[in-house]
Amino acid sequence: MSLNPDRLSHYFVSLCEIDSPSRGEAKLSAYVQDLCAQFNPDLVVEDNSATVTGSDCGNVLVRFSGNRTDLAPVFFNCHLDVIGPCLGVKVRSDDGVFYSDGPTVLGADDKAGIAILFEVLSSLRDDRIDFGSFEILFTTCEEIGLLGAKAFDTSLLHATYGYALDSTGVDNVIIGAPAARYVNAEIVGLAAHAGLHPDHGINAIQLASQAITLLPLGRIDDDTTANIGVISGGSATNIIPETVHVRGEIRSHSLQKLDFYTSRFRDIFLDAVHSWADTSGCVSVKPSLNFSSPEQYPLMFLANDAPVVQRLVHASSCMQRPLDYIKAGGGSDANIFNAAGLPTAILGIGMDHVHSTAECIRLFDMLRSAELVYSVLTC
Ligand SMILES: [Zn+2]
Repeated sequence: MSLNPDRLSHYFVSLCEIDSPSRGEAKLSAYVQDLCAQFNPDLVVEDNSATVTGSDCGNVLVRFSGNRTDLAPVFFNCHLDVIGPCLGVKVRSDDGVFYSDGPTVLGADDKAGIAILFEVLSSLRDDRIDFGSFEILFTTCEEIGLLGAKAFDTSLLHATYGYALDSTGVDNVIIGAPAARYVNAEIVGLAAHAGLHPDHGINAIQLASQAITLLPLGRIDDDTTANIGVISGGSATNIIPETVHVRGEIRSHSLQKLDFYTSRFRDIFLDAVHSWADTSGCVSVKPSLNFSSPEQYPLMFLANDAPVVQRLVHASSCMQRPLDYIKAGGGSDANIFNAAGLPTAILGIGMDHVHSTAECIRLFDMLRSAELVYSVLTC
């Protein structure tokens, strides 16, 4: 295979330096569509998910037919958006490692995946080698709740399984990812002047904090993590706060545990609210709780003998390079595709320190990932 590190590097830097915040991916979308068009695709289409996601463009689906009819069609997925701060990225390369040369993230998450796919396309063309048919799905708004993937009509895909190029590490494959729920607790107390009538109020923030100190947070067990990430409420220092919103999330590889801890969280908030007692005799109402736990993303689990895994096993044996098959803690577009009946494994592509301005990636690791993708399509 004629994978070319200089060309891959050029693709990567060009992609990173195009702004593509969540809901602002149009410029990058146009760029990747133009680039794809140079490789003779059967189809390049942007869907109308923007009306749902609020982005300035839709998801982009690209289809290439190959003449290896013995290979099932597969799809590859990368997201177009980058987590902030991500405007005006300048890439710095230092001894084969790419960094952001400024106060932004690098954007290897997920532009490394896009660059890898373009390098594979280039190499397939140069090698004039037969390959299996494949599709590329570029999604929007991954970083703000997998919105593009959720709004994508999966019946547009010809492939029945695929790979998301969107994880840290290299030579690893994520075959399990947790289900996640949001936790939203709104406690309603009673406002009163804090100096004049402190005994006429119910302090919602105090009730919430009683609950929060009792919540199991962090890594709760081998399968489960939980976090409280946002608290908002109150209006002035001299007013007893009437309402407080507490928002967090629970993730687990076990749906049973996810149910258990969701109930536990609700019970702890309820206990705090019920524990309030009117010691002054001045308050005629009781505090209340509004609790909800909507799904953030569903469970992902791929069996060893699933074609999506076996295809990788075969490709890695062609390359004589073993891969690690692992469970991971983050949700991504792959969770959505899996839940929609499209088995999707997530490939580690070498990105590191993602979601921070220290984000970096080695060119060597991107090349290794490109070799794997190339093998999936040709072995
Ligand atoms: Zn990502």
